[in-house]
Amino acid sequence: MACSSDPLAPSRPFAHPRSLSRSIFVAVLSFTLVAVLATAIALVTVSYFAEEKRSEEALVMQARACAQVLEGRSADERVELIRSQFPGPERFTLVDPAGVVVCDTEAAGTALGNHGSRPEMQQAVSQGEGVLVRHSDTLGQDTLYVAERLQDGYFIRVSEERLSLLAFLGSMALPVGVVVACAVLLVVLLSRFLASRIMRPLNRLDASDPLAGDVYEEMQPILRRIDQQQRQLKRQNEELKQAEGLRREFSANVSHEMKTPLQVISGSAEMIAGGLVAPEDVRDFGGRIYLESQRLRALINDVLTLSRLDESSFDAAECAPVDMLELVRRTCERLRPLARERQVSLAFDGAPVYAEGNEPLIEQAVSNLVENAIRYTGEGGAVTVQVESQAADGAAGDGVVAEGGSTAADAVLGDDGMPSGPWAVVRVQDTGIGIPAEDLPKIFERFYRTEKSRSKETGGTGLGLAIVKHAASYHGGDVAVESALGEGSTFTLRLPQATG
Ligand code: ADP
Repeated sequence: MACSSDPLAPSRPFAHPRSLSRSIFVAVLSFTLVAVLATAIALVTVSYFAEEKRSEEALVMQARACAQVLEGRSADERVELIRSQFPGPERFTLVDPAGVVVCDTEAAGTALGNHGSRPEMQQAVSQGEGVLVRHSDTLGQDTLYVAERLQDGYFIRVSEERLSLLAFLGSMALPVGVVVACAVLLVVLLSRFLASRIMRPLNRLDASDPLAGDVYEEMQPILRRIDQQQRQLKRQNEELKQAEGLRREFSANVSHEMKTPLQVISGSAEMIAGGLVAPEDVRDFGGRIYLESQRLRALINDVLTLSRLDESSFDAAECAPVDMLELVRRTCERLRPLARERQVSLAFDGAPVYAEGNEPLIEQAVSNLVENAIRYTGEGGAVTVQVESQAADGAAGDGVVAEGGSTAADAVLGDDGMPSGPWAVVRVQDTGIGIPAEDLPKIFERFYRTEKSRSKETGGTGLGLAIVKHAASYHGGDVAVESALGEGSTFTLRLPQATG
């Protein structure tokens, strides 16, 4: 026996398994980092420019105040006043009308070159005031200059070092870094919490009942599909179990049915071979062996026909119009010796009608019905077979109907998807033993026999009516039975008529 694999093992490994919590963490972290950094840079830049503006205004005010103090003073007084009243931290430079530096609070005036050409001075010459940020060659960095022209042509220039935006941002690196670190920490905690909250309904999902419990709205389509598949699988499983049960029962019945004739055959043959049979009885024993082997052959043939019907392995291409009256005539002629032997009258009549189907299969079905009628009718009884045409939608009969199923012939389908005729009908009527009402629904089952039928003694396989039902179903037709105990039975076989 082959080793069976674990039914719960996944059929194949996941192609690219991804961690949901890691995805959430990475997404939240990246988003937060970008948001925090962008906000920090924007805030620092805005505050840098606000600070620049504020300190520029303050420096202009200071330069104007200084110019007011120096106005109308001599050069020496001005130098003295600058040193005493404006000690810094700003740098003050007094420049004469020729651009020569008279005094500078941070550098020796003589060491400085002529300032007349400096842009802020040029501005002050033309506008009375010059305000400018430029790179200071003296101090080696960005500096804000405010120059005021005095009435006598002198200039007082106030200057202050400036941090560049980049340097300002650099100076903020530490606080920004601390904020980002806190944000990362928060994100780690938040993403863990979020991931576990998102995963909770997913972890609680019951694969056998996916629609039960809390589910995300977005997941409903896929869960519905899973639910449908589950139910379909359950249904298929049930059907498989049922089919398997029927198959087992059928196999057990077949073996049981075969045992009896085989025992008779082997026992009789053994006795003849062992010389235990008197010469005058050998003929009798031979006859018994022949009878039982005929029964065995009939059983095997019926089993084969049924399994071909089960597998629908009859070739649909073999379907052709079948002359039913001719088929019935042939069948009756073949079975006439049996009828004569049982002292049962056998007659047929009807009008020519054509069914669409597999002729050998239809002939076997009709033959089974007529043979049953002869076998279950006592001496002096009568069997009549009638062939007729029935219009569309007519009922099969008032009795129990074994319904049709899959169709091989092109039957006309009614509103309910079932064939609706017109029909070719064969009615087999006998005046035999009849069938008890409680047995009627079961007689089309395999190996079902009514108690009174003594089917085995009369050579029945117990499969005749099952073949009739399946043959009718195969052609898209049906078979019905009406019976009264002790009075007789009527079987009505309907097959879709050949079109054209
Ligand atoms: P069997 O080979 O036993 O006849 P069938 O499937 O042909 O098997 O019939 C099933 C049972 O239905 C028979 O055993 C018999 O009891 C009953 N039956 C079938 N046809 C007739 C009939 N014409 N009259 C009375 N009983 C019948």
